[in-house]
This record gives sequence, C-alpha cells and structure tokens, in this order.
Amino acid sequence: MPTATRTNPLSYLTDQLNELKSKGTHFKLRVLEDEQAPECTFDGKRVINLASNNYLGLTTHPKLREAALEATRKYGVGSGAVRTIAGTMKIHMELEEKIARFKNVEACVVFQSGFAANAGTVSAVLGKEDFIISDQLNHASIIDGARLSRAKILVFNHKDLAHAEQQLASVQDQPGRKLLITDGVFSMDGDIGPLPGLCDLAEKYGAIMMVDDAHASGVLGRNGRGTIDHFHQHGRVDIQVGTLSKAIGALGGYVCGTRDLIDYLYHRARPFLFSTSHPPSVAATCIAAFDVLEQEPERIDKLWENTRFWKKELGLLGFDIGGKTTPASETPITPIILGDGARTMEFSRELFQEGVLGTGIAFPTVPEGKARVRTIMTSGHTQQELQRALEVLQKVGKQMGILG
Ligand SMILES: *Cc1c(COP(=O)(O)O)cnc(C)c1O
Repeated sequence: MPTATRTNPLSYLTDQLNELKSKGTHFKLRVLEDEQAPECTFDGKRVINLASNNYLGLTTHPKLREAALEATRKYGVGSGAVRTIAGTMKIHMELEEKIARFKNVEACVVFQSGFAANAGTVSAVLGKEDFIISDQLNHASIIDGARLSRAKILVFNHKDLAHAEQQLASVQDQPGRKLLITDGVFSMDGDIGPLPGLCDLAEKYGAIMMVDDAHASGVLGRNGRGTIDHFHQHGRVDIQVGTLSKAIGALGGYVCGTRDLIDYLYHRARPFLFSTSHPPSVAATCIAAFDVLEQEPERIDKLWENTRFWKKELGLLGFDIGGKTTPASETPITPIILGDGARTMEFSRELFQEGVLGTGIAFPTVPEGKARVRTIMTSGHTQQELQRALEVLQKVGKQMGILG
C-alpha cells in the first residue's frame, strides 16, 4: 500500500469551524457530572440550571427510577429488533394505550424521539404532489420531514393567520393534499401557536391539521394534555405529536390520531420500520410519568408559579424578554434577547462563570440579529435558587452594559 501522505479531504470542515470561531459562535459541549436537576454540576462547576426541558423534575422522580429498574430486571435492557420484526413488547403497547387514553384519541404510536415522530410522520403522510403549509418558526424535525416527503413547502409568517390563509388559497385548486402544521409552543420564543384559528382554516380549505406539542406536553392543558386541550380543540386536530423527552423526563416521541392513521404509520413511517424500538426501561418510565401527571398536578401548578415569578422579575430588572422585537413568551421558556450573536455567547459564558447555566442561542437556530440567552423554568427551582440566579443575571447584565 502506498504510504505517501494523503491530503485530508475533510479539511474544509476545519475551515468552517475556524469561521465559527472567528465569529464567536463556536461552542464546546458542557458536560453534566451529576443528575439533571435545578442545581447541578457542569464541567466541574456548580450552577443553577436554567437550560433544561425537565419542566416537572421527572428525570429524577423516584417512581420513574423504580419503574425503569423493575422493567430492566424483568425484561432486560433492549428490545432486540425494530417494531415490525420482533421488537414490539407488551410494555410498548401498554404505553401507547395509556397515551391514547390520556389524550382522548383512538390510537397512538411511539417513536424513538420527537424528532423521529415528526420527520417520520410528515414524510409518510405526504408525497411529492402534496403541499405543506408551515409556520416560519416550526421545528427542524418538521422541516426535515417535509423535505423527505418531497411535498411543496409553503411557509407562512410566524402565527400570521391571514398569511396562512393566503398560502392555502394559493393552492386550493391544485389536486394535491394540504397539510397545515404548527408547533404548539415555539421552542425559541416560548409563544403559543394560534390553534383555534388554524383549525378553522384547515376546515375551510379541507387541509389535514397537525400540531407538534413537544414543549406543551406536560406543561399546557389539564394535567399537561397539551395545546389542543388548552384551547378546547378536541376533535379538530388530525395528527398530534408529543415528546417523551422533555416534561415526561425520558426519551421518545408519539403521534396520536385515528386508528387508521396509526396503522398506516406502522406500515409507512420509516423510523418505525427501520430503527429499533425503545428499551423496556424507557417504556416503563414513560408509563409511570403519565401516572405522575395525573397524581401530582401540583408539579404543574408550581411550574407556572415559578414561571410567573421569573418573567416578572426579569422584566423588572430591565431585560428584553420579547414582545417588542420578537414574540412575547407565554410559557416557561423565557428568552433574554441581546441581538448580537457573539455578545450573547459572551453573556452566556459570563453567567456560567458566576454560577448560572443559560444557553446562548444564535443564528442559524434563531434569525440573524435575534440572538438570545434562553431560560427555562421548572417546578423544582426553589425561591432561593431563583433569587440567586436573578442576582447573577443583574450583576453580569450591568457589567456587560446590557442593563442600564
Ligand atoms: C424538542 C422538540 C422536538 C424533538 O423532540 P425530541 O424528543 O427531543 O426528539 C420536536 N419538536 C419540537 C417543537 C421540539 O421542541
């Protein structure tokens, strides 16, 4: 074999990383050394955690831990195959029946992640002669699903019902199917999709209505049933997606709808057909989590109490928490808008040095000029932790000239 030095064909990746570094938006992964909790240790530093989606503290709930351990003892650590071959265990079916009852729908199918649920479903139900009418700020997994389906994508301005209607009207004479789709809660701004108005439009134009409730599951609606319940839109949404990875505390995504929708996804959703199902421990954990949603509603009350307090205090300190240049948050996600990407990353790093973890988010995750540090409340944050976090935010905000 020739041993002559070979030029690295991936050197262009190094160039691109260098470009990110020069822009100040390159990041290193922060590594968690203990549990996902309101106060925890990242990279050897004790911090107040304002970055996790563990809304209800379920990642460390004793009942969920016990359910995972018991299922592992009984059924082992893996499912051994994809669902359609030999990897459908009784516990998978139990979880799906439980979610369907919780959401008051005919049927449910669980995917390996919320990402797989969205991408797998959108690409399965649409084809290249079809149209997807999609909010500008919808999640990446919806966009990827739309691209995989090869349907034509018509984007409407964020939460703009008139623009959504224009887009639907522009293709109403075309033979293809139309799918109208929105996030229930938008993950970067924390605002809520205009579900009732979108359902009206879907009915008027004969479109399929789909909602991605990843950040609404466990957060909005009775016992965390999501935005459909929050807005009393039962029966008007054909495809409901939720995640098991955020408030539910484990991992996975699910699709709820008619028995035939779910049966069709068994036959056509590619992540379902071609990727192994959850270990029994994950299914058992999620079953226990839905019990906790029903049995411990005080967790959701506490989440909202913390959320109201946090938004009020951040506003009083003088931070831009949306509403002027960006949508106003209505949920436990509260962005602190700085605008400039590099400055946002510096703010996030300084906060970390002072003991607060808040994720800096810049282009391309959010539009250019809308960079922010995103904060997320959970039910587990104590008054003391929140007060301490506010002090740090104020101190660093003043040092950096973000606050007057
Ligand atoms: C997090 C998120 C997903 C993906 O869910 P995972 O279970 O983490 O894969 C999908 N949609 C939205 C809106 C999200 O915020």
